[in-house]
Order: sequence, then C-alpha cells, then structure tokens
Amino acid sequence: ISVSDLVDESYKRIGQVDDKVQAFLTLNEEKARLKAKDLDDKLGTNESKGLLFGMPIGIKDNIVTKGLRTTCASKILENFDPIYDATVMHRLEEAEAITIGKLNMDEFAMGSSTENSSFQLTRNPWNLETVPGGSSGGSAAAVAAGEVPFSLGSDTGGSIRQPASFCGVVGLKPTYGRVSRYGLVAFASSLDQIGPITRTVEDNAYLLQAISGVDPMDSTSANVDVPNFVRSLTGDVKGLKIAVPKEYLGEGVNEEVKQSVMNALQTLEKLGATWEEVSLPHSKYALATYYLLSSSEASANLARFDGVRYGYRSPNAETLMELYKNTRAEGFGEEVKRRIMLGTFALSSGYYDAYYKKAQKVRTLIKQDFEKIFESYDVIVGPTTPTPAFKIGENIADPMTMYLNDILTIPVNLAGVPGISVPCGLSNGLPLGLQIIGKHFDESTVYRVAHAFE
Ligand code: GLN
Repeated sequence: ISVSDLVDESYKRIGQVDDKVQAFLTLNEEKARLKAKDLDDKLGTNESKGLLFGMPIGIKDNIVTKGLRTTCASKILENFDPIYDATVMHRLEEAEAITIGKLNMDEFAMGSSTENSSFQLTRNPWNLETVPGGSSGGSAAAVAAGEVPFSLGSDTGGSIRQPASFCGVVGLKPTYGRVSRYGLVAFASSLDQIGPITRTVEDNAYLLQAISGVDPMDSTSANVDVPNFVRSLTGDVKGLKIAVPKEYLGEGVNEEVKQSVMNALQTLEKLGATWEEVSLPHSKYALATYYLLSSSEASANLARFDGVRYGYRSPNAETLMELYKNTRAEGFGEEVKRRIMLGTFALSSGYYDAYYKKAQKVRTLIKQDFEKIFESYDVIVGPTTPTPAFKIGENIADPMTMYLNDILTIPVNLAGVPGISVPCGLSNGLPLGLQIIGKHFDESTVYRVAHAFE
C-alpha cells in the first residue's frame, strides 16, 4: 500500500460520509496528494522515515495552518488564512504525517456539543441524532467515522476527552506544558492544551510522541524529558494503585456510566492493580472556578479580534468605536459573547478581588487535592462524562446544563495534570468513556492503564 492509497482512502471515505457527519470545514486535498506522492518516492528506499510516515491527520480549526483556512468556527475569522504554522504543525511535518483538512468545533472552543459552530452541525457517527460532544467534536467524529485515523483537538475544560467519550475513540489531554501552544488560537491560556485523538491507545502514544516537547516560541511549554510513550504500553498494571474519587460517582452520574466504571475497575483488579475510594473535596467548586477563570482569560485573549488586525471587519461603521463594536457584535456568536461579558465583569475593578482572585485561590485548593492523592496513588480513575451523548438541540438553550457536561473533566485542567478518555462500554448503543488521570508529566502510566482495555 502506498501513501497515495492511504490519502485516497481518506478522501474517499470523506466523500462517502461527510455530508452526513459534517466533521470537516476545509479540505487540503491538492497539497495532501502532492505530499503523498513525495513520500511515495521514499518508499522502498533506505531514507529515514518520520514517526507518522504517510499517516492522514485532521486538525481542529483553532490550530493555525499556513495558507490553510483557520476559522475557529467563527464568522469573525471566516476568511482567515494564517501566514504561519503552529508548532504542532511543524512537528507533524517532521513526522511526515499528511494534513487532510480542518475540523469543525464550537466557536473558539467554547461549548460541549459543537452546536456553537457558526458554520455547520457535526453529528455523532454512532447515532446521527446525537451530538459528537465538543468543543473538538469534528476531531472526534472524523476519527470515529473512519475519515482519518488521527486528529488533533484542544482541551481547556474537557474538549478532547468529552467528545472522545461520546464518539467511542481515544482522546488525551496532555500535562499542561507538554505540548507547545504556539499557534493554538488562545481561549484560556492557563488551561489550553493541544492533544491527540485516535482509535487506539497505541496510535495515541505515537501522535503525542510526535508533537511533544519544549518550544522556544511558548514560554509555558516545559523543558522536561519526553519519554518513549509507546514503550510504556507493556500491558502490565500489576501493583498499580488506583484512586476512585467518590465525587466522580455521585449524584447526576448516570447508573450505566457508574456500572461501566465498576466493570473497568474489576478488569484492572484481575490484572493485579488495586483500587480504593478517595475524596477530592474541592471538586464541587471546580465548575464555578473554571467558568470564572476561563471566561476572564477569554475576555482578554479575544480582545484582539477588533476588525483591524484579523478577519471580519464590519462594513457598517463610521467611527473607530463603531468599527470595534459592530465588528464584534456581528462577528462573535452568542456563547462567545456570554463568556466575554462574564470575563470582563469578573476582571473589572471592584469585582476582581471578589471573583477572579477568589477563583485563583480555589484553583490552588483543587490542585492540592490532586497532589495529595498522587502522594499515595499512581492514577485516578472515573467516568469521563456523567452521561452518554445527548440529542442535538437538547441542551443548547440551557447553558448551565451544557456546562455540567464537563464537571468530571474540568478539575483536571485546573490542576494541569494529564487525562485520557478510553472507550469502556455502551449504553443504548452509544459509547461510554473511562477517564484515567495521572501525575504531572506521567502520561506513560496513563497510557499503560488505558492500554489494558484494548
Ligand atoms: N465545555 C467547556 C467550555 O465550554 C470546555 C471547552 C474546552 O475544553 N475547550 O468551556
């Protein structure tokens, strides 16, 4: 099989299913085919080949790609063609992966269903009446539908793990700092991480390997060793100590979801691991903390979209102030405006101490909850989401219910630790995900446990 065959397969499959799934916003077909031909010339030679040689990959549309449209699924960037590549794109280039296209998402990664895209509705390949999750819904759906074997998503509060769970694929949020954020359009900079979505844990480890490592262009990328993740997939979990937070199996978590976690724990026990119930007492404040901090950061990050420097510019303006106001009023969607208003309020003088500063303090307490558990345990295990995928339209009118979707994933971003979602069963024909959370920079152990389910 040649690289051109692989790329062909990918576009053929997209042709067959994407009018229903609608995962892709932009295709990179011409360049992908040229690149495939280049790589085919290497086949059968002794030339060294990249880690992802010839592998088709889809990219979430908030990762900037040189000359390839990058919209963040927002009207405000509808016609934006970046002049540079994100660091992860350089790394994929070195690994010789092939970019197939850009994937749909919630506008600026704000949402849990991909229904906040300004352009199209992505559907869950398992049941087209349900959402794929979000905000990396396109990235998860494309892998689940067999359009691409690999994709990149971003996760600020669950946006890789929750859609992976809903679509029955493997999604990892790396440790904060493991992967460079340079060229990821910022939502909440202290929480955002790019991560891999794949069908198997092994593929996931390969993709993380390719994109990890310190980057001079991102001062928050960490100068720590990148271990060989694939080599950690030994299948051996004997002696591992697992913590199961009681808060993750409490009220609001669906019975079948709880059952699937109990089954997974039994499997791990049979393989020689042990588990105990623990408590993360500050979890109940995670949602409030997250929405204060992430919205505050978003209000600052999104100030740059003013109609002067990037993308859309309102034609209905006489003065500079009108230009700013109308561009933003016409360009941003509802949810994005809601976050900007909340964040601007929380950061305003007089309220800063009461909200933003308080939330920062609570974040530290949440982080300490995790650190304490990791003094005695290797990983934390629980569900990824309280329920399986919900129906399109079901939660969109009620932001609070939508926000509750990420109640089990958000604490992980606040603590900065790595977390994966792996498929662990079905409920009414819809996939369920098991979440495995590890110590800072210990993706290896997370993968090792996840691999036990394949
Ligand atoms: N659903 C969460 C939000 O809307 C998480 C989004 C994300 O991780 N990008 O903020």
